[in-house]
Amino acid sequence: MPLLGCIADDVTGATDLASMLVSNGMRTVLVLGVPEPGRALPDTDAVVVALKSRTAPVAAAVADSLAALAALRAAGAESILFKYCSTFDSTPAGNIGPVTDALADALGEPIAIACPAFPANGRTVYQGHLFVGSKLLDESGMENHPLTPMRDSDVVRLLAAQTPHAVGLVPRATVAAGPEAIAAALADLAAAGRRHAVVDAICDDDLRTLGFVAAERRLVTGGSGIAMGLPEAFRRRGRLASLGEAAAAPAVAGRAAILVGSCSRATRRQVAAGRDRFATLILDPIATPAVEPLLAAARAWLADRRREETVMIVGSAEPEAVARLQAILGVEAAGELIETVLSTLAVDLVGAGVRRLIVAGGETSGAVVRALGARELAVGREIAPGVPWTVARRPEGRLGLALKSGNFGGDEFFADALAACETGDPA
Ligand code: ADP
Repeated sequence: MPLLGCIADDVTGATDLASMLVSNGMRTVLVLGVPEPGRALPDTDAVVVALKSRTAPVAAAVADSLAALAALRAAGAESILFKYCSTFDSTPAGNIGPVTDALADALGEPIAIACPAFPANGRTVYQGHLFVGSKLLDESGMENHPLTPMRDSDVVRLLAAQTPHAVGLVPRATVAAGPEAIAAALADLAAAGRRHAVVDAICDDDLRTLGFVAAERRLVTGGSGIAMGLPEAFRRRGRLASLGEAAAAPAVAGRAAILVGSCSRATRRQVAAGRDRFATLILDPIATPAVEPLLAAARAWLADRRREETVMIVGSAEPEAVARLQAILGVEAAGELIETVLSTLAVDLVGAGVRRLIVAGGETSGAVVRALGARELAVGREIAPGVPWTVARRPEGRLGLALKSGNFGGDEFFADALAACETGDPA
């Protein structure tokens, strides 16, 4: 029976969180989509349910999150973690605030912790302000995100715009004073009528301290960093028997492909590095802003490739080109066009024998795994902070998947990922 039940608002957020739990010794399985009623969840320490709710309409995001919560509680999960992006990707309509409110109400949690910090990837929260490296969030490139442009850096203010409830802050000085000080601050904020508490964290030690507080609560929310201290805190409190080698993705070799839907700076650098290594197709959605001609062009290009070639197909573009496509189609339809083309190509490629697939982009990865019909992923070793190898078992055999959130990974991530998949984890 899982001790920890997690609900992630997109699939790369789920893989990121699963990787954090596995790296810290908790056996973790990733379930893609809301589990069907009555479906037995895996017998493991933690289950992460990956939704595609980050940019869904609010009502759908809330309904899916509550359905996931019901499945996790029915399976016996005692603690619930709502995972969103470490850059707090959302809009004034949500969905972080509304989903947190719905989960807190369902769980009877008086005040929900919100901490998007993930220092290993440069995301820190100080005085409620979210930094990416040395830049405030709204100067980090995230202000140009195609779907969730982040134009403020104050997490208290960002969250307050998404909820009717009051939002408070637990500042770094309190976090540094230890778990008891944090718990007391949360109690004070709750007594003062706050239903949300943004908690500062600027380093891994802060997150480990916060883990001891989080382990005692029914609901915590944040980036994957919020899970860093949980396994050890559960173990020390006797709720988890032991921590051990928890990576469990078998090796997968064979044909490889890379699909790129993220327009983030890090991904664009990875594409630039990958162009020298892989047979590369850059889609031109501005010339043909429709699914069929884009697919036809990609299929014709693929037909000319040699079987052993690793292919990279890129839908994403520089901010100016994204803006031009959005002006032609609208923001949502532009995103959907690229997601549909890439996910259809994923099905083609796997049908044609691809066994290792890298997908860059959170929304893009969600579209791809949905199209592939994958239901459950074994979680393996970390390739880069926040990105593990995962393996889906399918009737046709194993499929290795690296699902990468846009901003994650170094310049050579694609080559590193393909190598990690071939190696696999110790059995
Ligand atoms: P990230 O992880 O960087 O946020 P996502 O895949 O979540 O990446 O989001 C990127 C979004 O941008 C997707 O919806 C994708 O379809 C869309 N997109 C990709 N390329 C383009 C483009 N050339 N023009 C407009 N939108 C695009």
